[in-house]
Amino acid sequence: MGFIGLLRLLAVLLCIWLIWRYVRRKTSGPTPSTTQQRSSTMVACDVCGTHVPEDNAIKENDRWFCCDEHRDQNQH
Ligand SMILES: [Zn+2]
Repeated sequence: MGFIGLLRLLAVLLCIWLIWRYVRRKTSGPTPSTTQQRSSTMVACDVCGTHVPEDNAIKENDRWFCCDEHRDQNQH
């Protein structure tokens, strides 16, 4: 009976350890970041037609440009 009791104790300890590990991983794990959720719109450069994210594009007179060079090029 002593051996069975030891096995039962080990099983209980194993369960506690598994639950503790699960809880710890759940709370201290990397939280799903919302930084990647912001999807930027792609806009086409008015000079070369290259599609660039709206964040990186240059807007002037309701037209989009991929770089300063193309914006200046369009003005002249
Ligand atoms: Zn361009």
